[in-house]
Amino acid sequence: MGWIITLFILVVGLSIGSFLNVITFRLGKKGGIFWGRSECPHCGHVLKWRDLIPVLSFLTLKGKCRHCRQKISLIYPAVEILTAVAFLAYIYFRNTYALEVLYGLALISGLMVIVFSDLLELIIPDKIVFPLIILAFTFNLSVADISARLITALILSAIFAIMYLGSRGRWLGLGDAKLVFLIGLALGYPLGVLAVLFSVWTAALVGIALVMAGKATLKTALPLGTFLAINSIIFLIFQNELQKVTQTIF
Ligand SMILES: [Zn+2]
Repeated sequence: MGWIITLFILVVGLSIGSFLNVITFRLGKKGGIFWGRSECPHCGHVLKWRDLIPVLSFLTLKGKCRHCRQKISLIYPAVEILTAVAFLAYIYFRNTYALEVLYGLALISGLMVIVFSDLLELIIPDKIVFPLIILAFTFNLSVADISARLITALILSAIFAIMYLGSRGRWLGLGDAKLVFLIGLALGYPLGVLAVLFSVWTAALVGIALVMAGKATLKTALPLGTFLAINSIIFLIFQNELQKVTQTIF
């Protein structure tokens, strides 16, 4: 990839990341997700364009609101940088045709919102998951294995729904069952199943580490959706490489 294209993808990724911040922080509030002006969450000061340049505004303002000098969450530049890096990595490693690039970047964008909304508010928003399920279904209709993907999605979400009912919602939420349906559709078998298994393992390991460090108890709710969404993004980026590995095993 030439450096001009790389730079272009990074700028697009940072800008979309900035837009994903807006969506993530408006999901829990009343009013539209897409419309309305951005304001400081501390003082309500309406932000102008010069306060909204991805990463650069955060750096020039030294991480503080221009008006009230309260700290701006590091989450904002983190989402922007992660989105830009994920976009670049997906285009580079997946190395696919334009329509699938658009589809992949849309999936990654939605999953990025889920990573942070589950991490910050323990919510996996239907407003994000349902459109992504329709998108993944429609796109994969043209791919030969849609029935295999549907079966993978149904089995994964059935297992999660049973665990949800069996644990009365203590281990996981209904949002997780919808999210693994999406993962089954988007990644199919075996990658979708592996992404879910890997997420459950990493969530359990992090949970055990937090309990041992005294930062959580066995009753602390872990954002499983965050792990599911992060691993799905990683699996989407490296699906060519992972498919080669799994083909030799399965
Ligand atoms: Zn402020």
